[in-house]
Amino acid sequence: MTTIKENFDLIQKDINQAVKKSNRESDSVTLIAVSKRKSINIVLEGIKAGATNLGENYIQESIDKIDTIGIDKACWHFIGHLQSNKAKFAVKYFEYIHTIDSVKLAKEIHKQAKKINKIQKILIQVNIGDEITKSGTTIDETIELVKQVSVYENVSIVGLMCMPPYFSEPEEARGYFKSLKQIQTEIISLQLDHVRMDHLSMGMSNDFRVAIQEGATMVRVGTSIFGRRD
Ligand SMILES: *Cc1c(COP(=O)(O)O)cnc(C)c1O
Repeated sequence: MTTIKENFDLIQKDINQAVKKSNRESDSVTLIAVSKRKSINIVLEGIKAGATNLGENYIQESIDKIDTIGIDKACWHFIGHLQSNKAKFAVKYFEYIHTIDSVKLAKEIHKQAKKINKIQKILIQVNIGDEITKSGTTIDETIELVKQVSVYENVSIVGLMCMPPYFSEPEEARGYFKSLKQIQTEIISLQLDHVRMDHLSMGMSNDFRVAIQEGATMVRVGTSIFGRRD
C-alpha cells in the first residue's frame, strides 16, 4: 500500500506534467485534496504531506474537522451540495464555496457574509451533463444565474464548477470540460460587476489530466490521495 504522502506527491507531479504539456504557467492549477468521510487524523496526514487546499462535502463533518484542525491550517473549499439553512456555516468556515446553483442560495450566502463582514468567494456549479441525479444549474440558465447573483455585493463569483458524468475512459469527459470553458469565456466577455471568473473547478481522480488540458485551475482529487471511501 502507498502512503498519503506518496500519493500526494505523485498527483502533484502528474498535475505539473499536465500543466507543462498544456503550455500553462507552472502554478496555474491548485490541487484540492478532497477529504470527505475521512478521519481527522487522515486529514492531518494530508496536510503534513503538503496539502494546502482541502475539499469537504458535508457541513457538520467539516465543522468538527476544521474546529479541531484549525481554520488557518489550510484553505478550505466546500464542494458538497449546500442547503440554504446551512449557508451560515459554509460562510463561516470556507474560503471558497463551489456549489452555488440558485439565486436563493446565493442570496442567503450574501446575507450571512454581510453579517460577518466577509466577501464570500463562490463558484457556480453547472450541471454540464444535464443529469437528473446531479446538482447544478443548466447550461442555458448559467449566464442568467450569474447576472442575478452578481448584484449581491458580499459574494464574489470567482468561477465555474462542474462534475461531468463518470466515464472509465477520461478522454470521454473532454467535451464537457470544453463546454464549461466556453461558458466561462462568454461570461468574461460580459464584464459584470463582482464577477471575476478566474477559476474552472473541474477534474477528479480519474480525469484531472484531461481537465487541466482544457483549462482547469482547480482540480478536486480524493480517492487517489486518501484511498477509497467506505
Ligand atoms: C468526492 C468528490 C470529489 C473527489 O472525487 P474522487 O473521485 O475521489 O477524486 C471531487 N469533487 C466532488 C464534488 C466530490 O464530491
